[in-house]
Amino acid sequence: MGKALLLIDLQQDFCPGGALAVPGGDQVIDVANQAMACALRAGIPVVASLDWHPGNHGSFAVNAGQDVGGTGILDGLPQVWWPAHCVQGSEGAQLHPRLDQQGIIKRIYKGQQEQIDSYSAFFDNGHRRQTELDDWLHARNVDHLTVMGLATDYCVKFTVLDALSLGYGVEVISTGCRAVNLSPADGRQAMSEMQARGAALITLDEFCQRTAP
Ligand SMILES: [Zn+2]
Repeated sequence: MGKALLLIDLQQDFCPGGALAVPGGDQVIDVANQAMACALRAGIPVVASLDWHPGNHGSFAVNAGQDVGGTGILDGLPQVWWPAHCVQGSEGAQLHPRLDQQGIIKRIYKGQQEQIDSYSAFFDNGHRRQTELDDWLHARNVDHLTVMGLATDYCVKFTVLDALSLGYGVEVISTGCRAVNLSPADGRQAMSEMQARGAALITLDEFCQRTAP
């Protein structure tokens, strides 16, 4: 059985000071660095997803002519209107400067199609197209994923639910996630939903203990 560590959207725009700052988002960078160190000691590959939008992306409130945080429909799908964030090549789209990027052997870019959002690192929100993540993992015989990152209630949750649907065993480092919490309970509910669907919630210490060579 092969494992991989999947770091979700640890980008500047999702951290305090960024365009779509997740409260406490930068607190998970140290968790990511420690998880990566444990993974690399155990020979577990580390993959990072990046939200990577064109400037005219349809999920941006400014492009939709809507208020930030409101909801509507984008090309037939329910959509939250976000502040412009993670625009391709911008500083905000870069991985957090304190993240130890040397350990990352694969980057998965998502959200590049203008008319559909992509919370999951596997599929867009309509499951119309796949990223290369599933193929990449299969090619390396990975069938078990450890997931952490930003944000619990969107990109972490939908990545985990897709991974479970695709047949992966999934554990979530709960201390390595932070939520947007448009409603205050969103993060807690997302954790419960992931757990109910079959994901194990673990701590960083548990991850490192289990992967110790
Ligand atoms: Zn986005």
